[in-house]
Amino acid sequence: MDVLALNKISYGLFVLTAWEGEKTNGCIVNTVMQVTVSPNAIAVAVNKDNLTCDMVKNTKEFTVSVLSEKATFDTFKRFGLQSGRDVDKFKEYEYVKKNDLGGIYVTESTNAYIHGKVKEMVDLGTHIMFIADVCEMEVLSEEPSMTYSYYHENVKPKPSIAVDEALDGDKPAGKWVCKICGYVHEDENLPEDFICPWCKHPASDFEYVTA
Ligand code: FE
Repeated sequence: MDVLALNKISYGLFVLTAWEGEKTNGCIVNTVMQVTVSPNAIAVAVNKDNLTCDMVKNTKEFTVSVLSEKATFDTFKRFGLQSGRDVDKFKEYEYVKKNDLGGIYVTESTNAYIHGKVKEMVDLGTHIMFIADVCEMEVLSEEPSMTYSYYHENVKPKPSIAVDEALDGDKPAGKWVCKICGYVHEDENLPEDFICPWCKHPASDFEYVTA
């Protein structure tokens, strides 16, 4: 069995946004799909570790903002590489709008948003899949949607650049680099239970790089 077969599935990238009381939060997800047409319904899977997941569970409502190829790594850093438990991701962030139904969505480098009301939740262990009826949606631009492979090829910093930036020159050559986000672990040894501090992926997503 070749698990790399799973890498052949294509995905988009999205900002999943939730709002609860005074708090607005969002995270990056890659698992969004339209599941039915009558009615228009979408499914979104999100890791339970994300605050956004808890908020959607509570409010049964969310928006998905579809990222376009214009999105930069800054967008991924803002929404994907920090937790809403530690920072307010929307503080002084101007690229945000609210629709008539109160749905909050992101307008920076996005080409559409879809506002869903959850009708079913499926517990998948590490993730929850929310199935939602679409109650509002809008096209925001005609830029092509960003795919996961476009992100890897054009947006995500290349590990070699991250290593060069992190190295002082007189440190040992070998480093471990997170293949997901580019975080550099500046040590020859990577503990088996290591978790990437930026993207929370496990040690198996790191590769050993010599500068
Ligand atoms: Fe990472």
